[in-house]
Amino acid sequence: MTTPAPHSDELFARAKVVTPGGVNSPVRAFNAVGGTPRFITSAQGAWLTDADGREYVDLIASWGPMLLGHAHPEVLAAVQSAVARGTSYGTPTVPEVELAEEIVARTSVEQVRFVSSGTEATMSAIRLARGFTGRDVIVKFAGCYHGHVDSLLASAGSGLATFAVPGTPGVPESSTALTLVLPYNDRAAVEATFAEHGDRIAALITEAAPGNMGIVPPEYVEAEGSTGGGAPRVGFNQFLSQTCARHGALFISDEVMTGFRAASQGQWGLDGSVEGWAPDLTTFGKVMGGGFPAAAFGGRADVMAHLSPEGPVYQAGTLSGNPVATTAGLTTLRLATDEVYAHITEAGETVKQGVADALGAAGVAHTIQSNGTMFSVFFSDGPVRNFDEANAQDLPRFNAFFNAMLDAGVHLPPSAYETWFLSSAHDDRAVQTILDALPGAARAAAAVPTPEGES
Ligand SMILES: *Cc1c(COP(=O)(O)O)cnc(C)c1O
Repeated sequence: MTTPAPHSDELFARAKVVTPGGVNSPVRAFNAVGGTPRFITSAQGAWLTDADGREYVDLIASWGPMLLGHAHPEVLAAVQSAVARGTSYGTPTVPEVELAEEIVARTSVEQVRFVSSGTEATMSAIRLARGFTGRDVIVKFAGCYHGHVDSLLASAGSGLATFAVPGTPGVPESSTALTLVLPYNDRAAVEATFAEHGDRIAALITEAAPGNMGIVPPEYVEAEGSTGGGAPRVGFNQFLSQTCARHGALFISDEVMTGFRAASQGQWGLDGSVEGWAPDLTTFGKVMGGGFPAAAFGGRADVMAHLSPEGPVYQAGTLSGNPVATTAGLTTLRLATDEVYAHITEAGETVKQGVADALGAAGVAHTIQSNGTMFSVFFSDGPVRNFDEANAQDLPRFNAFFNAMLDAGVHLPPSAYETWFLSSAHDDRAVQTILDALPGAARAAAAVPTPEGES
């Protein structure tokens, strides 16, 4: 080779000429944290290698999918063998049946339909809910992300139970005029909204456990009339499911992030299966695609029967159920054993303790929240129960922390509102690299001057 390999700076400059902001999904641009995003040229296990030959412990995991780490040998072998048989036929295939069977076996859904992204999954689930109920209104929660579906890129209106306004230019008011946005974990707001609009609500959609504003677990309360001490509990999701059922609306649990990640059966394994209920529809993505573009929506067979060609609600996709993507997903799920989740939990406990020790010693306000195997770090005093509370973070301190971690060879998600994703490939060396980086990064966060007028 005569020309040296291009570096991240050069590549970013080139990318910005031909792509808006130089990236194909906004968070990758490092706008929140400053600096140049690393162009990753290869990844193995828990490690990323960038165009400058630097290595990082990866805490992004492709934003969740890489549950087993990068380039897992068995996933690679299955994908290579699938590719050799041709990459897309536009006909039914074997792996899509097997992946559907695996998802049905592992979760509460009776049937699934595959799509290519989480956005498509939530968009299609909403269409199906509207087609099934013959109603129009959708309820969602502030801070819950469901992909870039027009009707879900909505901000709360001027009062509770008033209709939403577009959350971004390009979304017409008519697209959010049928969306209601409520504060997460607020049972009274849900009750009031259903009391007023219940007979028009087609569905309520929620992240099964929010991970896109940082981890905000659904709250559990003791069941009414219980005397405590092993008493039955009512989780926020169960409350939502019951409220929807009372009003003839569907409950859509968005497990695109939590599915096969928070636990082996997803969030439903942590609440629904324990409490004895199931969502009407569930959306999946991320882990179930094994690092390829694959997602799904599924649920009650009588609801799914409304989907074309069995029923009247139209939905389709050229690459839906793609044999390479479904092979990657199927192989990943078959390898996602209890040991994988136990390992991720254990590594997570070590990292969380390290974060608490380092930020505590440096005197930086922080709150670590967990849900199943997932966790995130808020740069604020907690607890964080909703989006307003998530927004109370000290972002300049997170940004200093992020950049110091990056310099020390740890690639966190470049935003203070993200989950820190581990994998079964995060071994002692990877975890130790994180632990070694934390004290310096915590001191860098502490060194950020406090704005005037604040104590
Ligand atoms: C990532 C995500 C989506 C969107 O999935 P894409 O594949 O990026 O379209 C939807 N819902 C949740 C909860 C997500 O985390």
